[in-house]
Amino acid sequence: PTARQQAFIEREDRCGAHNYAPLPVVIARGKGPFLWDVEGRRYFDFLSGYSSVSQGHCHPKIIAALKSQADRVTLTSRAFFNDVLGEYEEYITRLLGYDKVLPMNTGVEGGETACKLARRWGYAVKGVPKDRARIVFAAGNFWGRTMSAISSSTDPSSYEGFGPYMPGFDVIPFNDLHALEAKLKADPDIVAFYVEPIQGEAGVIIPDAGYLRRAHEMLRRHGALLIADEVQTGLARTGKMLAQEWDGARADITILGKALSGGAYPVSAVLADDPVMLTIGRGQHGSTYGGNPLAAAVAKAALEVIVDEGLAEQAQRLGETFRARLSCIRSPLVAAVRGRGLLNALVVAPRGGVGAWEVCLRLRDAGLLTKPTHGEAIRLAPPLVLTEEQLLEAAGIIERVLLSF
Ligand code: PLP
Repeated sequence: PTARQQAFIEREDRCGAHNYAPLPVVIARGKGPFLWDVEGRRYFDFLSGYSSVSQGHCHPKIIAALKSQADRVTLTSRAFFNDVLGEYEEYITRLLGYDKVLPMNTGVEGGETACKLARRWGYAVKGVPKDRARIVFAAGNFWGRTMSAISSSTDPSSYEGFGPYMPGFDVIPFNDLHALEAKLKADPDIVAFYVEPIQGEAGVIIPDAGYLRRAHEMLRRHGALLIADEVQTGLARTGKMLAQEWDGARADITILGKALSGGAYPVSAVLADDPVMLTIGRGQHGSTYGGNPLAAAVAKAALEVIVDEGLAEQAQRLGETFRARLSCIRSPLVAAVRGRGLLNALVVAPRGGVGAWEVCLRLRDAGLLTKPTHGEAIRLAPPLVLTEEQLLEAAGIIERVLLSF
């Protein structure tokens, strides 16, 4: 980074706590698929705020909805009704085919809410004895940083040193139906299986075809729910509105976040049908900001952009082109290219002191920003609105950088 950027970075370091391990670049502006640093250098954004900015940075329709609602009323809390929330609730439930939506703010709160719903359903409907409900997770999962989320994590950098952990959680290998069946047979108190249709943070890990659908059939047989965490995979990112559609699955509980606001505001949502959703009664769950008018206006606009601009089809088409182009790169640093739609990873085979981090630094210098997910997988997830020409230009940058080592 330049001296000017370094000054920004040092101030954050001095006054801000540690959490992420950022790539050294200081951003001042964004538009569509691009970001600009404080010196006006332009970059392709291939991180998209961890798949939040699918509609592109500062999408005019989303920003217009934000501004116009901001001038009317921003927060009532659910203590009262407001004139925007119902319209958004009606829109999202129709669009995604669920009876009801429960609005929250962040992805991890959506996950927490889904766990509460599953436990409540377990006691109220399945008849699990008090405080015995168990939820099964897949190894390699990532769903945030709260106590519950880290309690189900198999990543020491997430959970180490933060115990004691949430009881009632089990972990089985991802993409392993036998392990799921064995768990379900052994324990009648299991109320749900919580899973990402494609594991994002684990490195864009795609399970076998039919995994989710068959898991759901198995869960149904054993009286347990399927919870699909679509916070990262949902809303057109993988080339379908929901990634579970690839499998012909429809989870009992679906969690959305990130792109639900196109990056303009924290908005998450939990979707379920009445037999599950209504097990939580009035006054038994909530969030001061969840479902506020500003969030509702922004989320509705963000969803409309996805539908109106055909972003699912666009992601599907561009994803095919992108992976085909990346597969032509002849570099010993490339171990694998994988993905679905525009949720992709390029796995680096480290050699001579060069790994995913070094590649990302040089990508930055060449005008493309992204970061490794776990280990050596570089995430390649641009906003879904970029053109084919822009995508190929970005692929050219990736090729030149890989061949430069
Ligand atoms: N679930 C999945 C699948 C995610 O990828 C993430 C974030 O990366 C989360 C949940 C957590 O979302 P948030 O950071 O908004 O709490």
